[in-house]
Amino acid sequence: MVNLFKSLFDLFFPRVCVLCRSTDLSYSKICKECYSKITFIESPYCLRCGVKLPAAIFQKNVVNPVICPSCSGKKFPFKRMQSVFIYDENSRDLLLRFKHADQSHLADLFAEWMVLHAHEMLREVDCIIPVPLHPKRLRHRQYNQSAELARHLSKLIQLPFYSSVLSRCIFKETQGYKGFRQRRLNVRGAFAVQRSYLIEGKHVLLVDDVMASGSTVMECSRELKRSGAKRVYILTVARTL
Ligand SMILES: [Zn+2]
Ligand SMILES: [Zn+2]
Repeated sequence: MVNLFKSLFDLFFPRVCVLCRSTDLSYSKICKECYSKITFIESPYCLRCGVKLPAAIFQKNVVNPVICPSCSGKKFPFKRMQSVFIYDENSRDLLLRFKHADQSHLADLFAEWMVLHAHEMLREVDCIIPVPLHPKRLRHRQYNQSAELARHLSKLIQLPFYSSVLSRCIFKETQGYKGFRQRRLNVRGAFAVQRSYLIEGKHVLLVDDVMASGSTVMECSRELKRSGAKRVYILTVARTL
């Protein structure tokens, strides 16, 4: 009976690609063609910052032991950072739809992709925390896309999801037009941790939708470490390069 209802539902409301409305679906919500245009970040990538590396430096049968030149010898407040795909002209639309709430159901697709691409890193974490939006922006935007991602991911991998441990305390203007140095100064001291006992001695996974300069996730990581987290891991859906 349930199947009959499902077939009727599919007949009247056919499932279509969220980007081009094709019915030739590949991955539950997007079609084969749109899926093939997305640049997923496959191995080899830097085991610290997650940047895609040229295949030439990857030796076969070695478990990706690579740290990129700009990470080598440096200290970071996080253990490891990874993203599922590159933010470019082909993936921008998907992310914008997700960000502006009309396609918030994309969170479950992105969470599935996160598990597929980062399962190795996910095995090392104890709990999940989203990058917070400032309350003012949250009111304007209705929902925090990072929290939606983190919530779906926590259901898939059965880990605690703490949506209010990390909060944003100073409202800063949008970072869109600022240089890297200015961005870094802009987020300094912008986050605070409550109920730090939840993360003390824990491996915390910080989740966001898009990583650009990295200044926001770096500052969040610093705050989580200052508040007692043993390690911070960062997972985003996309990164700009
Ligand atoms: Zn499509
Ligand atoms: Zn790196």
